[in-house]
Amino acid sequence: MILRQGVTCSTCNEIYILRISVGHSSYQEHSFACSNCGETITIGLDLDQKNAGWQFKIIENCILSDETLGTIINLHPEIVFSEELLHVDLISPSILYMSKMQEKLNQLPSDVSKEDYSDAKKNWEKIFLTHQEWGIIGKIWSLFAKNKDAQVKKFIIDNKDSIHDYRPNLTACEIIYSFIMRALAPIRANRAEEIIEKIFDEYENSDKELFNSFCKYHAREIFHKNMLRAHGIARDLFINYNEFNSVLWSLKKGESLPSNFAIASINFEKTKKIYGDAYECLGSNVLTLACISNIMKKRKFDTFENLTLAKYIEIDKSGKGKCFSDIPEFSDLMKYHIPKIRNGSHHGTFVFNHEHNQISYSPKANKSETISYSEYITCCVELFISCMTVSAIDIFIYDQLRFSAMKDTAGIV
Ligand SMILES: [Zn+2]
Repeated sequence: MILRQGVTCSTCNEIYILRISVGHSSYQEHSFACSNCGETITIGLDLDQKNAGWQFKIIENCILSDETLGTIINLHPEIVFSEELLHVDLISPSILYMSKMQEKLNQLPSDVSKEDYSDAKKNWEKIFLTHQEWGIIGKIWSLFAKNKDAQVKKFIIDNKDSIHDYRPNLTACEIIYSFIMRALAPIRANRAEEIIEKIFDEYENSDKELFNSFCKYHAREIFHKNMLRAHGIARDLFINYNEFNSVLWSLKKGESLPSNFAIASINFEKTKKIYGDAYECLGSNVLTLACISNIMKKRKFDTFENLTLAKYIEIDKSGKGKCFSDIPEFSDLMKYHIPKIRNGSHHGTFVFNHEHNQISYSPKANKSETISYSEYITCCVELFISCMTVSAIDIFIYDQLRFSAMKDTAGIV
């Protein structure tokens, strides 16, 4: 369904006709820069999915208007579409998407029962509405990362009705792991599972004592710090979810993005620091992968080819992936870990050009670069996915592998 609503820029009175596609959440929010004055306009939409009700909410710099003539803006919270269609009236991104879907559906058997359909819908909601769980999950994750065991147990029991597939004795680790996997599912969760399987295969075929000493170090020195940093990145993304969701939806589903696409919401003030923060988080948290790559090369977890562990921890984040660049499953996670964008993001040189939806920045003095906003958001979401994948690996090591290693090495002196 598309809702058509006129809005007027409060700063300069420019008129827009918004054509907002209704997504599946209970709330969606869209921002864009006024093409006349450049100030950000933000509008919210409360949705009652059960009763098909809706209510527009003015968030920033606009008033609702009855005007029927103005610049058309198509906004879709969950679908990425070509930028050429951004101002075209009468097209529907959903319909374009449906026709793509229809091609896929035509290949499916036509005798799907009502029960199968209802199960499919429930499974689909588990995967695509994870952001609505963040209020509860974020608290569990934060308490757990800070070692507040008694508080996290109480919080889980107090909120059991809001926890996905709750059962007694469900642990914080299991809850966070399930959430991460659903947030990445289907395609990116499969990839995370493949990496975890690779690590487990390596464990099965390696000297167990090498893994045992690593698991001890990981539990003592790495795990909680990594979880705390990753919590910060997940919080940044889920609090600003409307800025990222259409790209996250596409990447989760394994779709390739068009070269220039329209973003459902553009609020640069909310997103400009997120790349740099996610870059720092991933650069620190890959310590787990670096240690495992040493074991894969038949060395102790803390013995690098040319470095000591203390030296590795100290080196610049841009060099952290070098030691596992020969392991494709690990190095793929670093594909969007790009120092020059991080420097632009963290050194405050980012300048947003609202006419071209482009960011210009200076990674070094006397050097200027540009990146389209859609590409920038893709880089942010890819870093988020990498950070979450490393968190899933961290939980697997802390919650599963550590106990296997302890059991298998019992008796070894
Ligand atoms: Zn304006």
